Amino acid sequence: MNLEEKAIERLKEASKMSVDMYGKPLMITYSGGKDSDVLLLLADRSGIPYEVIHSHTTADAPQTVYHVREKFKYLEAKGIKCTVDYPYYKGKRTSMWGLIVQKKFPPTMIVRYCCEVLKEHSGDGRFIVTGVRWAESRRRKNTRGIYEGSHNDRDKRIILTNDNDDKRRLTESCFKRKKMICNPIIDWETSDVYDYLEESRIKLNPLYCMGFDRVGCVGCPMAGKRIFRDFAMFPKYRNLYVKTFDRMLIVRREAGLTENKLSVPWENGEDVFRWWVGLDHAQLSFEDIEKLADQKEE
Ligand code: SF4
Repeated sequence: MNLEEKAIERLKEASKMSVDMYGKPLMITYSGGKDSDVLLLLADRSGIPYEVIHSHTTADAPQTVYHVREKFKYLEAKGIKCTVDYPYYKGKRTSMWGLIVQKKFPPTMIVRYCCEVLKEHSGDGRFIVTGVRWAESRRRKNTRGIYEGSHNDRDKRIILTNDNDDKRRLTESCFKRKKMICNPIIDWETSDVYDYLEESRIKLNPLYCMGFDRVGCVGCPMAGKRIFRDFAMFPKYRNLYVKTFDRMLIVRREAGLTENKLSVPWENGEDVFRWWVGLDHAQLSFEDIEKLADQKEE
């Protein structure tokens, strides 16, 4: 069985489980990136019923927003239900910019609260499909599977890493109302993804032609040094972050939170920005960031 056939078999299995357990079709998560474009092709070729959902992070590059819009228009014309999931925090609509002010500190690699609010709730209570691949990182290789049953208690999550694993373990567990996940292209290499899209003449998100190898939020703390390229290409987002940090400092001061425990005090949003991207300071210690994470709102 080749990679495409294997992925389609996984989708068909997941589709059956989704209909049996949730009474609803599979939900394909679509980020506007190359892996999720592969998912849409596979779902179409498998003949299964499916819906598509996109998490609106509010910090995506304009190219991604337009690419998603174009794709949704195409899918909706074919009768496929497409949903844009807007982020909520404490029961109210939010955005990356509102969230930073509410949390009172910027998202960092260690305290990555933004993904949890802006992305990870999409598809709760459904069987979803994602484009996660083992080749993306060692962490994914060690923690992700072909099929996953989520659970609030991480020790009770079920991860099947082999197509022959007993899927009854998933279906017999009472995961109803929790999220279940199928990652049909988990064993694809990056070259497999590009080859498949090229052979199928699929138009990619224009960011890939601008030198990006991954598509995500502009200024993602997980981007490492690529964050400098992001802000060079999207200077308006840099300004947006600086203005957001200005507002965040006002809220911090109103809450009596001083910045004098930091290695470089924050006088204004520009200072926070420089600290955040690691420009002119000794990095915060892990303990400092943990303390910041504890400064939750009432
Ligand atoms: S900035 Fe990065 S970590 Fe935050 S929501 Fe976007 S992708 Fe996730």
